[in-house]
Amino acid sequence: MRRNCLMKLLSLVILLCFTAANAYSADLPKVVILATGGTIAGSAASQTNTTGYKAGTIGVETLINAVPEIKELAEVSGEQVCNTASPNMTNEILLQLGKRVNELLSSKDVDGVVITHGTDTLEETAYFLNLVVKSDKPVVVVGAMRPATAISADGPMNLYNAVLLASSKEAKGRGAYILMNDRIGSARFVSKTNTTMTDTFKSHEQGYLGAIAGGKIYFWNQITKKHTFNSEFDISKIKELPRVDIIYSHQSDDGVFYDAAVKAGAKGIVSAGSGNGSLSDATKLAGKDAQKAGVVFVQSSRVNNGIITPKKSGRVGLYANSLNPAKSRILLMVALTKTSDPEVIQRYFDEY
Ligand code: ASP
Repeated sequence: MRRNCLMKLLSLVILLCFTAANAYSADLPKVVILATGGTIAGSAASQTNTTGYKAGTIGVETLINAVPEIKELAEVSGEQVCNTASPNMTNEILLQLGKRVNELLSSKDVDGVVITHGTDTLEETAYFLNLVVKSDKPVVVVGAMRPATAISADGPMNLYNAVLLASSKEAKGRGAYILMNDRIGSARFVSKTNTTMTDTFKSHEQGYLGAIAGGKIYFWNQITKKHTFNSEFDISKIKELPRVDIIYSHQSDDGVFYDAAVKAGAKGIVSAGSGNGSLSDATKLAGKDAQKAGVVFVQSSRVNNGIITPKKSGRVGLYANSLNPAKSRILLMVALTKTSDPEVIQRYFDEY
């Protein structure tokens, strides 16, 4: 009799603990980590090797298990989208990723998404998501400059901060983020500025949206450009992004690559011009010829900072506003899925 009572009491305690544990995890925000590879998932033969390593070797579950503390921030699950060094990212992967992020965020069971990514082309993917995600829930793109095997690897803290940001209500409605080195950057403004240093992601002119210190999020700026939930771009039915090439300007530039791009089937060309987007006379002619062949031509700058102004003598194409060539290419690809009208595309460059 007494034994029976004891058994019942024990079952009750177990049931209560189980319910409490479930209630606790049900209260935590739900964050999905989409892993694509990069240095954050890279490994080297020695702990001091921070450059001669292989990016994209560690799977998403290992990444998550390496930072068990993230499970105190959110109910975290992972999906492997691809596992590659980011120079290998393609338009196909971008489309797949954008569609998956939209699918996940449309569910009431997902509060935010983190994308782990190689840093080399991270800003391109982040800006793409900034344009095509149809949700105000946080989308955080994160990477690392040091492989997971390095002394003072930056990946674990970056991942922790990314999950913290993705699970925060305050982070809603501010577009896609680039989270690196404790700094909260807008995908529109932040770029990689240094080949190897951990503080490489910078936004020289516009600054950051905020920072994370001591496990707390501090926001101090709003993004003024259109993005995510108020963007007019919709990739849900897009099967392929149009080809857009970037052509770098230099002295003795005879414009030969413009013809090559047109022959290769480019629907758009972005120039990484010198200074305020300027081009050699031969390149101006090549740009005009490309436009006559139906290609949309946008002038950006190899300087990577500052504004490409509308009215400048000798401007032959559209102007990129303050977008660098890599991000101009992303916007032009997305724009061309809607229109090839240069006036409308110029408006996109002014607004996004
Ligand atoms: N070095 C790169 C990185 O930081 C490699 C890549 O972009 O995948 O992730």
